[in-house]
Amino acid sequence: MKLIYTDSLVIGAGLAGLRVAIATKEQGLDTLVLSLIPAKRSHSAAAQGGMQASLGNTVKGMGDNEDIHFQDTVKGSDWSCDQDVARMFAHCAPKAIREMTNWGVPWSRVSAGPRDVIMNAKKVTLHEAKEAHGLINARDFGGTEKWRTCYTADGTGHSLLYAVDNQAISMGIPVHERIEALSLIHDGKRCQGVIARCLVTGELRAYVAKSTTIATGGYGKIYEISTNATICEGIGQALALDTGVATLGNMEAVQFHPTAIVPAGILTTEGCRGDGGILRDKDGHRFMPDYEPEKKELASRDVVSRRMTEHMRKGMGNDSPYGPHLWLDITILGREHIETNLREVKEICEYFLGIDPCKEWIPVRPTQHYSMGGVRTNATGESPQLKGLFSVGEAACWDMHGFNRLGGNSVAETVVGGMIIGQYVADFCQQNSLEIDTALTQQFIDKLQNEIDNLVDGNGTENPFQLKKEMQRVMMDYVGIFRNGPELEKAIKELKALLVRTKNLGLKCKKRHSNPELVEALRVTRMLRVALTVACGAAARTESRGAHSREDYPQRNDKDWLNRTLATWPDAESLEPVLHYENLDVMKMELPPGYRGYGNDNTIAHPDTEKRNQEISKVIAELGGNPDRETLQQALMPYTLPSHLQPSNERLSDTLAVTPSQPVGNKPL
Ligand SMILES: Cc1cc2nc3c(=O)[nH]c(=O)nc-3n(C[C@H](O)[C@H](O)[C@H](O)COP(=O)(O)OP(=O)(O)OC[C@H]3O[C@@H](n4cnc5c(N)ncnc54)[C@H](O)[C@@H]3O)c2cc1C
Repeated sequence: MKLIYTDSLVIGAGLAGLRVAIATKEQGLDTLVLSLIPAKRSHSAAAQGGMQASLGNTVKGMGDNEDIHFQDTVKGSDWSCDQDVARMFAHCAPKAIREMTNWGVPWSRVSAGPRDVIMNAKKVTLHEAKEAHGLINARDFGGTEKWRTCYTADGTGHSLLYAVDNQAISMGIPVHERIEALSLIHDGKRCQGVIARCLVTGELRAYVAKSTTIATGGYGKIYEISTNATICEGIGQALALDTGVATLGNMEAVQFHPTAIVPAGILTTEGCRGDGGILRDKDGHRFMPDYEPEKKELASRDVVSRRMTEHMRKGMGNDSPYGPHLWLDITILGREHIETNLREVKEICEYFLGIDPCKEWIPVRPTQHYSMGGVRTNATGESPQLKGLFSVGEAACWDMHGFNRLGGNSVAETVVGGMIIGQYVADFCQQNSLEIDTALTQQFIDKLQNEIDNLVDGNGTENPFQLKKEMQRVMMDYVGIFRNGPELEKAIKELKALLVRTKNLGLKCKKRHSNPELVEALRVTRMLRVALTVACGAAARTESRGAHSREDYPQRNDKDWLNRTLATWPDAESLEPVLHYENLDVMKMELPPGYRGYGNDNTIAHPDTEKRNQEISKVIAELGGNPDRETLQQALMPYTLPSHLQPSNERLSDTLAVTPSQPVGNKPL
């Protein structure tokens, strides 16, 4: 048995995993990262649009602060996030942006004076303050109150990942590439590391560690069409699920992005709409204002995706050999803007569609995009069930996104979460010793070896590529944007039948090294269990919330469903997960449930909502009626952070005499 020891083991070399690794290495801990691919190829590199943080440098961001970012995030989540986590996040996002600047991210900057932007399909001139000149710019994104999405043109993820990976390299953090973690070593209470397989040689290794952090990204590829990279297959979530004790949170919370190109499913960033792009139907009509007069194309993603689907169901989609689609029109932004701020979008259109988006409309359709669900953790990022198991980034359900994450909040979560949780992981490693149980480790190696032997030496007849394809189609057809009871039951039945068929998997290629068919066979069983947590969670949740939209239960039901779905798989032979629920306590919420400001307001109220609103009014009165915002925040919902992250954030508005009630610029031409 090959054993490798470290203090802090991180599974995944995307933004989240690398940021945790840097945090533990900074504390002098031995740190090691595993990745399927070279770190700089992680899916984080694909993020185009930007990263949210309330810097408040620009005229449209002036007056922004942690409170407004927090409120946008909670409303976006449809009130199902952990509000203390959303607070921790909003407070640290400006610090993360500034740290990234120090590490070399070339953020797009503010130029003082007039600049033309497109708003609501009209050209508008904004006047940026001379004091803001050279500071980090922000664009309109994610349906937020203020413009706060910082960006490097439309290559934000790329520049962030390169900067963070370079930092990790300069600190001497080893990344073991082309290594796939396939099971966690644990005794039901304590996680001791992972069993991983080298994708090149086929060798099995045990990585034993004080802490193990799952940072493996989302599970988008359980769907047929997704904006996710091919490596986003949910094996990280399966690692936790297969322990039988660790829980996955809100797996049914899957986001569909409104504007992926047809048919390839490659994303065109929300920055297109943020910068002024509009959606048109087959007649060229701009339809979003008909449905969402307030936010139009900039309502939250779940709302825009649903409106587009509704409009196509009315026959207003443009027919194509790949089914109906709508149009994204960015021609109105002009060539110069597109070639400066949306250059990756332009290249995607040229290479994959053969069109010039400066002149032609882009065919788009809502497509699977983001996994709000994941490995459930507490606010420090640790699994409540398995000591020493942490999770961060898209792989996790830390839960600042609830049932819909805002555009620009995910890249921010990776580095902010990595910064905060990285500190808690470091603390854990300093306070706990390495636990090594060689017999237990051998048991997990033997189990995986046995699974591989059966696949390679057995004479099963099922093709793993075929099973995966069938699973992806089921998820696409029955667990998509609009869901209903009968279709979800059909999905569960078909997924279970596919899981049964995995017992009879057979391989044509019998190699134990460099064998994609073997890799696929090992993954498809795990992916099917993950898919079943999504389908079963969606079938059980008889309400509509955020991205989970039930045609048969159209109301958000705070009375019965203000909770988080937790899924475990305690019996390995079972064909379905066990679901249980974690209630959200309205009496502890800083922002009690209410209307999001877009979409339908058809909520069934929680009995405590009114009581909590009254309590909040009382707290405000007791603080003198007009307390400063930090005092009020602490009185309503105190939250904790590592001490070095607690200080307040400085802003231009601290010294500049411009407030939201004194708008500068924004004169229509
Ligand atoms: C096209 C696109 C554009 C986006 N644009 C934006 C945006 O503009 N703003 C925004 O906020 N968000 C955006 N997002 C979302 C955001 O990019 C992701 O949520 C985020 O980058 C995920 O980072 P991560 O570190 O959690 O995971 P990833 O970057 O996906 O990294 C996962 C890592 O885990 C490794 N791994 C996986 N499984 C295993 C295993 N079993 N063993 C070992 N290693 C493993 C992989 O090799 C990889 O290194 C976008 C997403 C997409 C799909």
